[in-house]
Amino acid sequence: MEIFDCVIIGGGPSGCFAGISASEKGKKVALVDRNSEICKKLLLTGKGKCNLTNLNEINEDYISKYKNGKFLINVFHQFSNHDLYDFFERNGLKLKIDTGKRVYPESENAEDVLKTIKKILDRNKVRLFLREKVLDIEKNKEFFEIKTDKRIFKTKKVVISTGGKSFPGTGSEGDGFIWARKFGHKIIKPVPALCGLEIKENFIKKWQGINLKNILVSAYLSEKKIGEEFGELLFTHYGVSGPSILNLSGNVSENLDKGEIKIIINFKPALNDEILDKRLQREIKENPNKILKNLFKNLLPSGLIDEFLKQSGLEGEKKVNQITRDERKIIVEKLLKFEITVKKTRPFYDSMVTRGGVCIDEINPKTMESKIVKGLYFAGEIIDVDGKTGGYNLQMCFSTGYVAGINV
Ligand SMILES: Cc1cc2nc3c(=O)[nH]c(=O)nc-3n(C[C@H](O)[C@H](O)[C@H](O)COP(=O)(O)OP(=O)(O)OC[C@H]3O[C@@H](n4cnc5c(N)ncnc54)[C@H](O)[C@@H]3O)c2cc1C
Repeated sequence: MEIFDCVIIGGGPSGCFAGISASEKGKKVALVDRNSEICKKLLLTGKGKCNLTNLNEINEDYISKYKNGKFLINVFHQFSNHDLYDFFERNGLKLKIDTGKRVYPESENAEDVLKTIKKILDRNKVRLFLREKVLDIEKNKEFFEIKTDKRIFKTKKVVISTGGKSFPGTGSEGDGFIWARKFGHKIIKPVPALCGLEIKENFIKKWQGINLKNILVSAYLSEKKIGEEFGELLFTHYGVSGPSILNLSGNVSENLDKGEIKIIINFKPALNDEILDKRLQREIKENPNKILKNLFKNLLPSGLIDEFLKQSGLEGEKKVNQITRDERKIIVEKLLKFEITVKKTRPFYDSMVTRGGVCIDEINPKTMESKIVKGLYFAGEIIDVDGKTGGYNLQMCFSTGYVAGINV
């Protein structure tokens, strides 16, 4: 039986970076993945272009893009977004910075990120064990025995970087949670995040394909606001999606079993009731003979208008000079607070990341080592940390992987 200084389970971005940093410190490393190739999920990221990080300054705002972001402060101190950027460029991968400081390979091809990672693993002599599924891990005194469908590895240090449960077709089915639980770790219930929301109201299907920009969406559990996002919203065949909803979805997901969740769409976030009402009064005065649905052409995309008026109990054919003060009040209220109800989130197979995972309280934030089992480390999405869209998730995976690797 060959003995390794460290065995890394899961060859996603986090596991690969653990392998890179551990091997750079002279460790003999085995990297095991069930797939025939490493980083299968990475190839899907950023619609195949791979938004590998975000170069905004790491400050409070950056940290707030994550659930449990404070856990990452030390990690980013050790390996930041700029360190990652320099690391890839130093290793021959040309990068470009896009809107919102999102970073992509210049070629806009995730394959090039994979090629670079493979080149470094190869140069550092990290031994890859592919098409090999880890079945179980046991610890006997100071050695771990890692049982795969092909062999048993013996090692003093293990990094579990098996990802979450999202897009299970890429290999991440949540196996790591089972082993972590077995070793006494608390697992915060894994739920889908960065996903669309299925909506109860059937009329929403009529809005399928309509994309709104600059809207504000808020999620409420009873009276309690559990999240708010500004940006784009896309109506789909099942409900709502688009960047604002994706970023809201984790908060919805983790609260779904606590009660009914309402999504409030504010179609005019730049205006308040008073200003919107004045604008309506002015438009009514200037166009007294228009019918209501034609007046709405200045307020909403045309595809929304008929159903919006129906849902608001308003008559589209009514002349605007016959609109009552109460009806005007309804228009204002519905434009600023249009309410829909969440049925459920999209399933794991249609969610980009997993919220939940190994509880951060039991992981040393400086080393990624388990506070419960010596020699056991965690990296990447398996940890109960997840970020918004924009490169934050991969950065977290690369950084936690790097930190685990230098500490094994
Ligand atoms: C469609 C899509 C688009 C995305 N786009 C972006 C983006 O543009 N920017 C961004 O920052 N994030 C993006 N993400 C999120 C990002 O891809 C993940 O957060 C990241 O890949 C997680 O890395 P990881 O190393 O923790 O786990 P994973 O990438 O999930 O890797 C885990 C690895 O462990 C292996 N494994 C699991 N169980 C076993 C086992 N029992 N035995 C052996 N091997 C095992 C799996 O085969 C897999 O290779 C996207 C995700 C998806 C699904």
